[in-house]
Amino acid sequence: MPEIHLDDGRRVPYSIRISPRSRRVRLTLNPRDGLVMVSPPGVDNAELAALATSWRDWIARQLDEMGIADLAARERRRALPENIALPALGEDWGVLYRYAPAAAPRVREKGASAIVLGGDVSDHPACVSALRRWLMRRARQTLPDCLERVAAETRLDFATVSIRGQRSRWGSCSATGDISLNYQLLFLPPHLLRHVLVHELCHTVELNHSPRFWRTVARFEPDLVQLREEMRRSWSHVPGWLLAAI
Ligand SMILES: [Zn+2]
Repeated sequence: MPEIHLDDGRRVPYSIRISPRSRRVRLTLNPRDGLVMVSPPGVDNAELAALATSWRDWIARQLDEMGIADLAARERRRALPENIALPALGEDWGVLYRYAPAAAPRVREKGASAIVLGGDVSDHPACVSALRRWLMRRARQTLPDCLERVAAETRLDFATVSIRGQRSRWGSCSATGDISLNYQLLFLPPHLLRHVLVHELCHTVELNHSPRFWRTVARFEPDLVQLREEMRRSWSHVPGWLLAAI
């Protein structure tokens, strides 16, 4: 990725997007896409780099105003992973990339601790989608068993379990005892995964968050106060490359 060097020493990466409809080069900056130079076709990279440099004061001011101190660090967080740790399962998968430009990115497992992401690996959003589909499969293979185990231990019964990709909830439980779990639970440490499963199972007897519900949870979780504190920061366990794409 090309970079602009600001006078204060910061290096700001930017991407170039060719837009046949635009008539002149312009810059856009937002927290999701970062700094993007939008250019009509036919402008060469040296010219774009010179323009970017001439706009460095504007870029510095915009970065400060938006509170994006370090765009390069943000890019590193967005970068596709070299390994995917799944603490809930005690697994750590290496990720190998195989470039095959004509094919849509797909993931296959290679042995018990590596996956191969093959296809047009320059298509970042398609790669994230492929990795997400694999995580969803891994969650469907494993989380229902985890729920069964905790259900047996707590003697709380559920009707069905489904795995989904909720944006802001770890799980939910319906009035009929149907539990749905977020595949991103794979990124939590085992004790927090267990806590979410206990929480949802307790909803099969108390369908609310009343004091009586929390007393039920506390019967199975002696360290409830500590666990609830840790759950406040639970989304920080989800890796940046996945969160940035959601
Ligand atoms: Zn709840």
